Amino acid sequence: MRPDVVIVGAGVMGCSLAFYLSRSGRRVLVIDRGRIGQGATAACAGGIRAQFSTEINIRIGMEAKRLLARFVEETGQTADFRPVGYLFLLTTEDERSRFRDALQLQRACGLDDVVELEPAEARAMIPGLETDDLNGATFCPSDGLAGPNEVTYGFANAARRQGAVIVEDTPVEAFLMSGGTVRGVRTAAGEIESPETVICAGPWSAPVGAMLGLQVSIVPSRRQVFVSEPFAGIRRSSPMTIDFHTSFYFHPEGEGVLFGMSDPATPPGDDTRVDWSFLDRITAVAQHRWPPLLEARVKTAWAGLYENTPDFQPLIGRMRAGLWIAAGFSGHGFMMAPVVGKWLAAWIVDGVTPVDLGAFAPDRFAAGARGEPERNVV
Ligand SMILES: Cc1cc2nc3c(=O)[nH]c(=O)nc-3n(C[C@H](O)[C@H](O)[C@H](O)COP(=O)(O)OP(=O)(O)OC[C@H]3O[C@@H](n4cnc5c(N)ncnc54)[C@H](O)[C@@H]3O)c2cc1C
Repeated sequence: MRPDVVIVGAGVMGCSLAFYLSRSGRRVLVIDRGRIGQGATAACAGGIRAQFSTEINIRIGMEAKRLLARFVEETGQTADFRPVGYLFLLTTEDERSRFRDALQLQRACGLDDVVELEPAEARAMIPGLETDDLNGATFCPSDGLAGPNEVTYGFANAARRQGAVIVEDTPVEAFLMSGGTVRGVRTAAGEIESPETVICAGPWSAPVGAMLGLQVSIVPSRRQVFVSEPFAGIRRSSPMTIDFHTSFYFHPEGEGVLFGMSDPATPPGDDTRVDWSFLDRITAVAQHRWPPLLEARVKTAWAGLYENTPDFQPLIGRMRAGLWIAAGFSGHGFMMAPVVGKWLAAWIVDGVTPVDLGAFAPDRFAAGARGEPERNVV
């Protein structure tokens, strides 16, 4: 097959894009150096929300929920979407005022079920939550969780049924060039010519861009997730709960609880080994905020990579003739990929984007034009 579009990377982003492009009749080839969904997507906590601080991200989150609610109709597979809600716990007056501003913007965008809560109301939702030092909370019941594996394979399988080809265990080693135009990619298995190539290489997008001498402002950084044995101390219907001040978060996972926290001391890099000593630091925070977690027995842990940009917004759009990018989701790529895949496919097919994605312009840092950063980052 001579593809119309080559996609570098078969994470949730590459598979979503392949689905929407092939649905539009485009011949698509996805190439991954590993297996489908085994990059950052495999480490994902599954959170889906529209509680963001920027209008574009609020709109993407709202659209993501709509798409995931009818994922079976779209792809023939379940997304395992569970709208259990997202509860943000706010400690300082500054946090409360920023989330109040964001909530007003969310309401103006049509997210009408998001509410502000008093600490006592948050405590009533989460048995054992310590709220004495909290200033407030926000809650959106239609936010929730979905299955990273289900969504990624749902897109991949449906794309294949529509004619897309996904090649695994095949690293892209270089780009084919003609003049200033990208004409495809080279792999150990041979050259593949294509009029359009899209970088969807997640945390590894900078080294992929560097093959062309392009500076791609995406920095990988390790995040760790812990999951317990069956644990009765959390309700199955509990929301994703985030202590925004510390970034400690938890939600029900199977019969247990999944939890994590960011570590500002983690240096950039692609190390994904689990540092079990970090569990002590999370436990200290949990002791203060949600002591019942100390009763849970940890069953397993993993580490994956966030893919941060300087303003915590992705790079989406054309980089040069024949070359596009959709990467750098700064920890929100699972929830954004269904929508970005749909919009970017329309852009590639029709030549115009259905929604203004200027905030995500891939050259915005080089041009010195720093956009509005996303502030509700965990
Ligand atoms: C611990 C953790 C928790 C998270 N929780 C959430 C959450 O709750 N909600 C949310 O929305 N997001 C979450 N995220 C972020 C989310 O997982 C990512 O934003 C998203 O999975 C990115 O998808 P992607 O397809 O862009 O990248 P990836 O899934 O990393 O896919 C990129 C692919 O490119 C391939 N690749 C790289 N180099 C090459 C090459 N040279 N040739 C061929 N292929 C190549 C890789 O093998 C990989 O499969 C979390 C991330 C982590 C680490």
